[in-house]
Parts: sequence; structure tokens; C-alpha cells
Amino acid sequence: MEQLNKMKLEKSIEILGYSVKQRPIYGLKLGEGNYKVLAWSQMHGNETTTTKACLDLVDYLQQTDQGRAMLKRLQLQLIFQLNPDGAVRYTRLNANKIDLNRDAVQETQPEMTTLKTVYSAFKPDLCLNLHGQRTIFSSGNSNKPATLSFLAPAANEAREVTPARLIAMQLIAKMVNEQAVSNQWGIGRYDDTFNLNCTGDFFTAQGTPTILFEAGHFPNDYKRLKTREFVFNALLSCLNSVSSNQYQHFTAEDYLAIPANDNHLRDIEIRNVTIVNKGKITISTIFVQFKEVLQQGDIHFIPEYAGNDPQLKGLKVIYALSKNQTKPIDVVESSTKIIKHLQSFIDF
Ligand SMILES: [Zn+2]
Repeated sequence: MEQLNKMKLEKSIEILGYSVKQRPIYGLKLGEGNYKVLAWSQMHGNETTTTKACLDLVDYLQQTDQGRAMLKRLQLQLIFQLNPDGAVRYTRLNANKIDLNRDAVQETQPEMTTLKTVYSAFKPDLCLNLHGQRTIFSSGNSNKPATLSFLAPAANEAREVTPARLIAMQLIAKMVNEQAVSNQWGIGRYDDTFNLNCTGDFFTAQGTPTILFEAGHFPNDYKRLKTREFVFNALLSCLNSVSSNQYQHFTAEDYLAIPANDNHLRDIEIRNVTIVNKGKITISTIFVQFKEVLQQGDIHFIPEYAGNDPQLKGLKVIYALSKNQTKPIDVVESSTKIIKHLQSFIDF
């Protein structure tokens, strides 16, 4: 985020509003074309990958010939870190402990007022609602993480394909078509249950095509450098499509063919562990999930016990060697005790 700090110092970005704790909400407007795109990141404070991808996008648009040509056809209003208080404390919620992505109708929070004020003044043709998702999400019922997930939010309870929603679906289908997914990673389609309080549903209901981006996990990439690249590529593909009008041949069916997001992945699967549950000893597969926390300015991944549900799948599989395990893991103990016990005979 050094780049963002540098831009703040150089005052090359403007202040669009202020958070609950009076922190500035920064924005940058680029381009002079007719087609207007509004994109905001980090309305959930701990979802930083898309902010970084937006900064990569700014570099590309300003520093390459192709980028500068796109800016002749587009106007792009970026909002970096809509939730700066959450970004500082590394929390999803804002300083009043409100999920900003459920505040679109009531608009109780200053951050939402800032977004809606910019929306009303700018009158975008397309909105990009940029988020990050945890490692638990898979592409369909596979063990491939959903490194990217997308949603064309519904505009009503019936989840009809309204004209605005169709454009979002077509653009998503185009972006997915241009990503070379592999057996290592995949793309998921987010659940489209209608909730007018969600920003994407709200703007789609106003008639503005809106796309939810979720930056997810790529194998062994906990810093999300690879994901950042994929998000950048997707953003670029999206802006290219709208600025050159090349997406209309995609259909709602193409969008619906994207595998749905599932949530059965866990960070580590440990097989062959001797466990005891209320006196009964068995050999079982158990799961560990990392919790991301900010400690002294650094992100740490704290392992937590995540149960032994056989429906789950691990992103990484480890075999416990019975000769190293001296006594069974008591799975009704606290997560801290279970993890400590596990780490006494397994490295993870
Ligand atoms: Zn989010």
C-alpha cells in the first residue's frame, strides 16, 4: 500500500468523504470518455487484495499506450478503501461495527453516504463492488479454490434478468472466458439471493449494472500476489469490454454455467489422527483453518481447529504418523488446546 500512501502525500487523489473516525476516504478519477465506471474497494476493511489490484490498474492506465487509449473511451471513478477505519483495524466492519455492505437502504453510516453521494453525482454506467473472500470457498463441488468469484446481483426477489443485470452477467461471462483457469484454481459464481440492503443489489435495482468481485485463494499464495494479478487481469478485461462494446454476444446462460461458490474447503486436512470423542477412540481426518489477524502491523495466520466433518476438503493434506502421536486428540477440548496438542507431533 506504499503506492496509496505516496498518492496521498502527493495529493494526486481527492478526498471524497470521511469515515466514522474522521479518516479521509480517497478517490481518483481517470479518463475522459463517455462510458462511466464507478469502482470501490475495501468496504470490508480487511479485504485488501482488490485495492492493490486497483493500484496496478491505475499504473497500467496511466503508463501504457493501451491504457491511455482506454482512458479516451472511459471515465473511471475509483474509491480506495471505502472503510478506512476497518482497514486500519483490519476488520470487516466499520468503526460502529456495521457491515457497510448491508447499509445501502438505510444509509446509517458516513462511508455509505460517501458512496451514494459519489454514485448520484457521477451517474455510472457500471459499478464494480470489489471484495475479498476466505480460503473456504471452492469453484463448485471441487477441491479447487475459487480464486475469483463473481456475482451479477439480483434486482428483485424473483431474481429476474433485468436489463441492468443482464449486462453484469454478460461482462462476467466475458471476464471468465478470458481467464485461463487450470486444475489448480477456479472461478465461482456467488449466491444471488436478493437483499436490497446489499450495495450491489441496491444499485442493480436502480438500473445500474453492478458486478461483485471476490478475490479468493490461490494454492499456497497466502499473500495473494497471484490473486492480485488475476483481479487486475479481470478488471482490465472488464474495462476493455465496456470501452470497446465487446461483450453482448455472451448470454445469461453463459453466466449461469459458471460453477457456484461452495464453502467446503479448509486450509489443512490432517489424515490418520487418533482422536477421542466422549470416550470413543477412532482414527479420523481432521481440519485446521487459519484465522487472519493483524498483530503489530503484520498479518498473522493463526491456526484454529475446524472439526472433522467428512464433507470438508483440505487445500493441503498432511498425514499424521501414528508413531509420533503419544495420546489421542480430545476433540471436545478448546481449539487452542487441540492445536497445541497437534503441533506437538505435526508441523504446519
Ligand atoms: Zn467483502
